[in-house]
Amino acid sequence: MKTIIYGNWKMNQSLTEVKEFSQSPITEVDSNMVIGIAPQILHLSKMKENSKGTLKIGAQNCSHKISGAFTGETSLQSLKEAKADFVIIGHSERRALYGETNQTCSQKIKLAQSLGIEAVYCIGESLEQRESSQTLNILKQQILEGLSTIESLDGIILAYEPVWAIGTGKSATSKQAQEVHSFIRKLLQDNFKADCPILYGGSVKPANVSELMKQPDINGALVGGASLKLDSFISLCKAAKAE
Ligand code: 13P
Repeated sequence: MKTIIYGNWKMNQSLTEVKEFSQSPITEVDSNMVIGIAPQILHLSKMKENSKGTLKIGAQNCSHKISGAFTGETSLQSLKEAKADFVIIGHSERRALYGETNQTCSQKIKLAQSLGIEAVYCIGESLEQRESSQTLNILKQQILEGLSTIESLDGIILAYEPVWAIGTGKSATSKQAQEVHSFIRKLLQDNFKADCPILYGGSVKPANVSELMKQPDINGALVGGASLKLDSFISLCKAAKAE
């Protein structure tokens, strides 16, 4: 499996960075790695066009419907027309701030799969859930409900992002992450008789990515803050590749 490093820019960056990243040699790091960026939706087409296929370009969210009276939403059909490579679904910020549920995620995932857009489905427990030993139950529910509408894992990527590690500078240790990733892989095997890439996200940096990527069940990273500066993102990709 190729190592996948996707940057989630969230509501950051401007056209300046869109141009800078699209013209940079990031993808020359290693042809055995898949590197991508999810910019703000307004910049997706431009970034896709500028990067000429060298970088994967994705969206940070999409609607659960294809078209209709859904003011402010983005259709997966439009993402397909814009040649988006992937879409992030169920990010914890969307769950916490916009009421996204496993059920809406499952509709989005099914649509993305049917349109051939890679779905990066985010799951993760809060600090409170971890401290009350609920982590594995919460993840199991997120996975089984979120993937309830699909029959195969084709075009699906899981991203384990513990909420307490996002934007806090406090990453899960490689041991903590590996334990969860191995649980997720087994759950997928039991339910789908199949496998898919499982990314880790939450304070991934050039300094800790290598240790995380050494773990047998971690196939890549979903990176927030450390993907915003080109130098830092290139260093991170290089360190991830070192394994
Ligand atoms: P940070 O890397 O800034 O912790 O963000 C992780 C994240 O939310 C990626 O989707």
